[in-house]
Amino acid sequence: MGLSDLDQEAARTADLAEDASSDQVRIGQVVKLDRGFPLVRCLDTGEQLRCEHATDLVKEGRFRVVVGDRVEVLISQGHDKGIIQDVLERRTELVRKDPAERAVAQVMAANFDLVIIAQPLAEVNIRRLERELVLAFETGAKVAVVLTKADLAQDESAVQQIRRQVQDRAGQQVPVLVISAQQPETVEEVRSLIPQGTVAVLVGKSGVGKSSLINLLVGREVQETGSVREGDGKGRHTTVSREIVPIPQGGFVMDMPGVRGVGVWEAEAGIGAAFADIEEAATRCKFRDCKHAGEPGCAVRAAVAEGQISQERLDSYLSLTTEVKTLRERKEEARRMQGTKASDERAGKRGGHKRVHKARKRR
Ligand code: GDP
Ligand code: ZN
Repeated sequence: MGLSDLDQEAARTADLAEDASSDQVRIGQVVKLDRGFPLVRCLDTGEQLRCEHATDLVKEGRFRVVVGDRVEVLISQGHDKGIIQDVLERRTELVRKDPAERAVAQVMAANFDLVIIAQPLAEVNIRRLERELVLAFETGAKVAVVLTKADLAQDESAVQQIRRQVQDRAGQQVPVLVISAQQPETVEEVRSLIPQGTVAVLVGKSGVGKSSLINLLVGREVQETGSVREGDGKGRHTTVSREIVPIPQGGFVMDMPGVRGVGVWEAEAGIGAAFADIEEAATRCKFRDCKHAGEPGCAVRAAVAEGQISQERLDSYLSLTTEVKTLRERKEEARRMQGTKASDERAGKRGGHKRVHKARKRR
């Protein structure tokens, strides 16, 4: 988020306010989503208010704002809540497959600069890490991995060994940090990844230590730890709120509690980045459309045979690409069945409603 962005938005806010009499239109950011209405912070005054979606914004589909969204809010006298009239184009978005739907995307956060993937050092789940990396790379933001609870590792050599393994998986351009709540100073490296004016989104299964990390970054208990119970569905959603937390001497961190499923969604670019070694080898396969399933002249299989790529890693790659392809087919099928409805939406049929930008560029 650059300063000039803020200036532009402030100027736009002023323009919009002019043609109103008692009503005001402001630009704000969604800073918290919980069981209530979205909490929006106005960019010019810093004032926070609860807002509802304009019916026009949601009636065509399931559109809802996410944490980090920049929104145009109408504040009218005699109305205690603001009305979200429009959503500005998202700079970045974190998208997964909606766990409750057959082929629907779910945006979880918007407008961040860095995705931090948290995994417990002593219990790294490589399959999950691969998926998290795919989702993270797909956003186009920077990516980092934080290995938590280092105090639970056997010894320092175990820590280094696991760190190296994760580094290999993530790629050399991804910072892999090791932290422990027992040693608060370990969090300083994480802080330095989130300088002032930047926003990081923190992802990871519940219980991996995300809240503890945020508390360390902030220097006090802003997040309740150990509150989301894994494996028992009861009461989970009541504890889940997503918000943007300011970090002293740093930027902002968005917490994504209770995110269990990491289904990939239209993530070809993310898969390409997370499995760059495989895609690089694939450029040397004899057939352009090689499925690496035993065709002659397959450079990927050759790399596996030579031990440069592990069989497990290839299996993950193949199953993730199949997953994305299947979803795409399902989505196309759903679109065909809806027929004209989908094309109407693509044509931007929105009546006289004024849109600042189109937020749903890919859906
Ligand atoms: P979240 O669900 O990802 O937000 O995880 P929490 O921060 O709530 O942590 C889950 C549990 O792990 C809590 O009981 C924490 O006290 C514990 N925990 C978090 N960080 C550490 C750590 O560095 N070392 C140890 N031993 N336990 C930790
Ligand atoms: Zn091949």
